[in-house]
Amino acid sequence: MTNPAEIELKHLKTAVRYLIGLLEEGSLVPRYDDETRKEIGVVLQHLLHKVEDLPEGVPDNLVQGTAVRALVEAAADHDEAARQEQADALERQMCEAEAWASIHGHLLEAWEPVTGSVMEYQTSCQTCGGFVYVSYNSSYNLLLETCERIKQE
Ligand SMILES: [Zn+2]
Repeated sequence: MTNPAEIELKHLKTAVRYLIGLLEEGSLVPRYDDETRKEIGVVLQHLLHKVEDLPEGVPDNLVQGTAVRALVEAAADHDEAARQEQADALERQMCEAEAWASIHGHLLEAWEPVTGSVMEYQTSCQTCGGFVYVSYNSSYNLLLETCERIKQE
């Protein structure tokens, strides 16, 4: 026989899971900011798992602490996802720069990280010294339309 507290917990969990689904899907809350409602969904998910793992008789302040940790973990998830997106974008910028350089006859050195910067790389042409810089959201290409190497041949 289930006691009322267990029934209440079961209902609460079902309701929270449904709320997470609604937040993720978004059609009921179209005026909520996209990123925020998804992140709140992730916070609730972390919170559900953490509450499940709490031992019996744990004091209230530690239960409240799970809310803080759920928020922190959701923020970390978000940062990690954003970092991965930036890394992918950086990779694309490099590939595009390499393709352009190759088509125009340049031979690029290996990419080197820009000193003091995160996710910024630079390289130059082995033959003409033309410079290329990329970050995840920009690129500067100072290569000539045709590499000097080809002009000399
Ligand atoms: Zn060149």
